[in-house]
Amino acid sequence: MAGAARTYLDHNATSPLRPRARDAMLAVLDAAGNPSSVHAEGRAARAVVETARESVAALVGARPADVTFTSGGTEAIVTALTGAVEVAGEGLRFDRLLVGATEHACVLAGGRFPAGSVERLPVDGNGIIDPDALRDRLAVLQAEGVRAMVAVQAANNETGVIQPIADLAERVHAAGGVLVCDAVQAPGRMAFALADAGADAVVLSAHKLGGPLGAGALVTTSRLRIKAPLLTGGGQERGARAGTENVAAIAGFGAAAAAVRDGGEAERARLAGLRDAFETGLRARRPQAVVFGAGVARLANTSLVAIPGDPAETALIRLDLAGLAVSSGSACSSGKVRRSHVLEAMGVDEDLSRCAIRVSFGWNSTETDVTACLEAFAKAPDALSERPGRAAA
Ligand code: PLP
Repeated sequence: MAGAARTYLDHNATSPLRPRARDAMLAVLDAAGNPSSVHAEGRAARAVVETARESVAALVGARPADVTFTSGGTEAIVTALTGAVEVAGEGLRFDRLLVGATEHACVLAGGRFPAGSVERLPVDGNGIIDPDALRDRLAVLQAEGVRAMVAVQAANNETGVIQPIADLAERVHAAGGVLVCDAVQAPGRMAFALADAGADAVVLSAHKLGGPLGAGALVTTSRLRIKAPLLTGGGQERGARAGTENVAAIAGFGAAAAAVRDGGEAERARLAGLRDAFETGLRARRPQAVVFGAGVARLANTSLVAIPGDPAETALIRLDLAGLAVSSGSACSSGKVRRSHVLEAMGVDEDLSRCAIRVSFGWNSTETDVTACLEAFAKAPDALSERPGRAAA
C-alpha cells in the first residue's frame, strides 16, 4: 500500500500488519485443518486458535475462556450490546443503553437495542463523560424502574482522549448496571487492563494493533454472559459465536497482541515522543494550530489538530499528494467530509471542526515520519499563516 516515498500516519484507522503477525498468518495459510475437526490437522488448527486466545487474553489481563473471537470490533460491539444478559448467574433484562456521545458509530448505533432505547451521554469540552453526571442519570432511571447497560470507549479514535473508565464503572455497578468498554484504540497506546478498567466486557480489534483486518474479540469478565449469540448455527467459540474460525486472522491477532505486550511502556513512551515532536513542530510552523484534547490524558499515538481556515476536505488531498496518509477527524463518506460528531459533542466551533486532521503513529513510525509529516503540513497555502482564524470556506 504505502510505497517508499509515502508516510503512513493513520494507525487509528488501520495499523499496518506487523511482520510477526504476517509470519504467524503465513504459517497457518499453508496448513489444512478446521479447528473443530478431531484429526491431527484439526487439532493443530485448534492449537493455533487457543494460543492466540491466550495471547489476546493476556493483553488485557483476562481469562482465555472469556475471550470470544469475532470478525472485528464492530461485530464484538453488536454482540455485547444486547438487552438479554446474565450477570453473576442471574438472567437480567436491560431496557436502556447509555452510550457516550463521542463513541464510534458502531456503538452509537446501539447494537441489538431498539433505536428508541439508546440514549447519548453528554461530554465536556475535551470529550470526557462526567462520572457524577452518569451516576445522577442512572439514579433517575433506577427510580423509574429502568435498568441500563452503559457503553463507553477507553479512548476516542479521533482525539485520543481517554475516558475515566474505572470511575464510570464504579457508578454503573453501584446502580446495578453493566459497562461495556470499547477498547479498540487502547492496546499499545495507553495502559489498559480489564481489572483496572472495571468494565464487564471489553472489545478489541486486530487491525488497530498491527494484526489483520477482519478479526476482533469480545472479552467478558466471568460476571457477564451474553445469553443470545449474534451468530447462531454452530457450536464454535463455546456456543458464543457460530461459524468456522478465521484461523489465519486469529493467529495474526494473537501474534500482534504478543508484540504489543512485548513493546510495553517503552513503546508507548516512544510513540508519545513522536506525537509530541509532531505537535511541537507544527505549533512552531503554524502558531495558530489547535490541538484537541491537549490538556487531558490522551493516547500516546494520537494527535487531532486543526489549522483554522484550512478545511480538511482540501488539506487531506494536498497532504496525500505530498505523500502523507492521514485522516480527517470527521467521517468521510463518498469523498465528502462531514462534520465530526465527536467535535460537535465537545462543542467545538463548526468551522474549526471542519479543519480537523488526525495524525496517528504506530509500531513502524519513526522520527523520519515526523519530519516528512511536518514538511507536508508546511506545504499549506501561505495565505493561511497570514489569516489566522479565517472561517472555513
Ligand atoms: N471502535 C472504535 C473506537 C474504532 O476506532 C473502530 C474502528 O475504527 C471500531 C470500534 C470498529 O472496529 P472494526 O473496524 O474492527 O470493526
